Amino acid sequence: MSEPSKKTGLIHENARTEEQKKLMAQIEQDGVCPFCAEHFKKYHPKPIIKETDSWFLTTNMSPYEGTTYHFLFVYKKAHVISPSEITPESRADLFDLINWTVEKYDIKGGSFFMRFGDHHYTGGSVEHLHTHLIVGDTDESSQDAIRVKLGWKVAS
Ligand SMILES: [Zn+2]
Repeated sequence: MSEPSKKTGLIHENARTEEQKKLMAQIEQDGVCPFCAEHFKKYHPKPIIKETDSWFLTTNMSPYEGTTYHFLFVYKKAHVISPSEITPESRADLFDLINWTVEKYDIKGGSFFMRFGDHHYTGGSVEHLHTHLIVGDTDESSQDAIRVKLGWKVAS
């Protein structure tokens, strides 16, 4: 099991695409956290759709297979890895921004999730606190579920 890079907090083994791997190699060379506000716009190749006091709203550079939308909400104010490190105002701000996105894109149903803390439990590739919002098709149109790694099964 790999440790997150001391310099960047990236967990390289959890990268899913070649594009991600290349970008992570560049970030490692530069020695920064790619989701910290002062670096985010430089490394993230997708436009920032909206910005609030606490969050950037953007899309994932490598959307999960089969999604119509794959939004990311990236915490702006500091390098943190857990929701316990942010203020109640910033937590409320996140839900307001999720609601704004749901209305703006006329999303009838979707899922959002936030990995946090010790990456050994989560399968995330960037430790810096962020939330995913994913939207796919209906179970009437498709038989294939979108599958997301959110943790590891307890060994039986
Ligand atoms: Zn950071």
